[in-house]
Amino acid sequence: MTATVPPPPLLFDQQDTSDIPFVGALLDSMETAACLIDTDERIIGWNRCYEAFFPEHEGQLKRGWSYIDNMRNYFRANAEITDAKLFEETVEAGVARHRNMRDPSLFQKRNGRWLNSRIYWFADGSCLKTWQDVTRQHNRTATDLFMEGTDRGVVLFDANGNFEKANRVMGDIFPRAVDLFHPGTTYLDHLRAYAETTLAPHEAETVARLINRPFPIRTPVARPLQLRRLDGGWLELRERVLFDGSLQTLWLDITTAKALEKSNADLDRLVHELREARQTAEAASAAKSAFLATMSHEIRTPMNGVLGMLGLLRTVPLPAEALDYAETAHQSATALLAIIDDVLDITKLEAGRITLEPLPFRPSELLRSIVALFAPRVAERGVTLRLQTDASLELVYQSDPTRLRQILVNLVGNAVKFTPSGEITICGYTEPAADPAATPDLARLVLEVRDTGIGIPLEQQALIFDRFTQSDQSITRRFGGTGLGLAISRELAQLMGGYISLASAPGEGSTFTVSLPVPKIDAAALEALTNSRKPAPASTLDRPLSILLAEDNEINQRVVIALLRKAGHQVYCVASGRDALEALPEHAFDLVLMDIHMPEMDGLQATRLIRASGKPWARIPIIALTADALDESRQTHLAAGMNDTLAKPIDRDKLLQTLQRWGGKPEAPAAQGADAKPEPARPRFDQARFAELVDTIGRDALPDLIDSVIAAVTERVTDIALHRHAADVRDLHAPAHQLISLFGNFALTRLHDLSRRLASACLAGNRLEVAQLIGELEAQTAADLPLLSEAAQAVTA
Ligand code: ADP
Repeated sequence: MTATVPPPPLLFDQQDTSDIPFVGALLDSMETAACLIDTDERIIGWNRCYEAFFPEHEGQLKRGWSYIDNMRNYFRANAEITDAKLFEETVEAGVARHRNMRDPSLFQKRNGRWLNSRIYWFADGSCLKTWQDVTRQHNRTATDLFMEGTDRGVVLFDANGNFEKANRVMGDIFPRAVDLFHPGTTYLDHLRAYAETTLAPHEAETVARLINRPFPIRTPVARPLQLRRLDGGWLELRERVLFDGSLQTLWLDITTAKALEKSNADLDRLVHELREARQTAEAASAAKSAFLATMSHEIRTPMNGVLGMLGLLRTVPLPAEALDYAETAHQSATALLAIIDDVLDITKLEAGRITLEPLPFRPSELLRSIVALFAPRVAERGVTLRLQTDASLELVYQSDPTRLRQILVNLVGNAVKFTPSGEITICGYTEPAADPAATPDLARLVLEVRDTGIGIPLEQQALIFDRFTQSDQSITRRFGGTGLGLAISRELAQLMGGYISLASAPGEGSTFTVSLPVPKIDAAALEALTNSRKPAPASTLDRPLSILLAEDNEINQRVVIALLRKAGHQVYCVASGRDALEALPEHAFDLVLMDIHMPEMDGLQATRLIRASGKPWARIPIIALTADALDESRQTHLAAGMNDTLAKPIDRDKLLQTLQRWGGKPEAPAAQGADAKPEPARPRFDQARFAELVDTIGRDALPDLIDSVIAAVTERVTDIALHRHAADVRDLHAPAHQLISLFGNFALTRLHDLSRRLASACLAGNRLEVAQLIGELEAQTAADLPLLSEAAQAVTA
């Protein structure tokens, strides 16, 4: 039967007093831990529950074990104190509390259990210590629920600062002060212990200030107080005094939040620095734009003189050699101006300062004008230029035709440049927009420029769209160019909502494709649009204009006056905005050409005063003459009340177009243009044109001039006739070309047309046609040239 006998009770066992088995069994059966300690503070015995509540002592409990060792063991398991000295001090404090203990005491273990400990002292100084698990009762109240639910460490003190309760988080925050979390301790004990065990030494002063407050506390910390931890982390303390004077202290580990705060501050600083850097960059970019605008102004003003004078020079009779020099100089000046314009364009695109000017246009017309522009240059090289369009390109769409033209001129220009032989095809068609149901009025305009030229290696294809990049370093030497054209074209296409793509292989040619979304314009809308844009009534057409020119630069004055007079207009010139204001009442002017930068009063100020004057001329068309080619300048001019802007150097055709637009005068025919077809039924000699010429150069200079013209014409015609059997008729193009302007300027209409046809045939290398036209030229020169001397005699007589 011995097998069924339960093991002897522990307490009893260890005491070796087998005469009281009943007491031992009783103690073991309790749910309260019990431990008997003798006068020398040695453990005499313990029950089963003690082992369950304090598993950290397992294997170490033995009779005669000192209570100090027991304490040590307890703190080792329940508080992480690494500092040996501090550890001993904590243990000693625990033992001292034990020695002085009379009342029950509540504390929480690391595992979250709340234990209520009591002590029973016997007369000989030995004692019985018991621990009851009161976790359930302890957690019952709402406050308890809050305390266990929050992520803050919470400790409650009564109005006198006596400890009431602490939650589990508090033990995590101050693991080395957990032994204080029981009644009998005060807030001051806690603060001291926190400072000693957990806080950084430099916080001692702050803690001292907290400690020095009398109870009940009237001055809880106003704002959350941040305290540094010994290990570098951060804690935050809040205090709340409740109505009964009791105190709630809340502790939060803010180490992570602080780290985030710091990285946020770092980020903020970075953002601030970046913003400043961007502002500096923008200011630099603005300064660059301003510099370029000034430069362009400074370069364009003298260029105005150069180009204007060269243009005039080409129209007067000169020895062949000098004419050639003038032609070359004119070409170089035009090329220089194109480079300045490219640099300006790319700067404006970079600064986002190009604004589009959407207008109705017919793509087919635009393409035809481009073909006409390049036809002579292409013919000169024996390359074929084709245009393929479908019917949809005859319809009207809306886009910025000037910018689209700029893109195409660049692409076709490149194709011509890089295609030594073969052909270039411009192909245009439209496609439905991406979502035709949603946008029925939108089409996609596709324009391809295909060439059979040198092609572009694959690895260069992405690069050539970058500014200042050419596919081959030797290209600059061979073909010239700045490497800006494609960069500008691509950015313009993107600005217009489209793109440019490229397919090419070395030796097999290239195809550049421009694809743009373009709204379709219906006929009625177009009508309304053109009516609203019509600047002058049709009745003002066909009459010479009376123009007031306000311009302070003498060379510019001479150029513009000569151009205007040549076109048959009357010009009255003043040198400042103020003089313009004074001149207006004196004469019924049709239009004002107004320089912007003038002394005394600039063009903008003068325009504002004219517009505000309420006088009959308050609505007179005013055209700005400016060397600032930037878009924002144009906006400023329009805002001041000007109607249009003409960029210097003044381009003759643009000037005449603008005059026609605002003054109703029909545009004079261009002096040259290889695309024009001979017009039949024109008089051999244009009397009106001759009258304009006399007006421009004056009666006195006429006889000399006519003599030189007759000499120059005779010399060139003889020269051409002598070389009619030349091996390469293209050599005859230069003298034939010179004849065009000579005949054109001196009213010899029929000869003018004939010389144009001859120049084209020479370019095309068509020997048969050249031979035939030379025959005609000789005969007609003999017949028509005397008309010029007769007219001159009639005038001078
Ligand atoms: P630019 O022609 O003024 O040098 P672009 O930006 O217009 O500048 O062109 C950049 C480079 O792209 C050219 O120098 C050339 O190397 C290459 N390229 C452009 N178009 C063609 C083409 N049609 N065929 C061959 N190479 C081309």
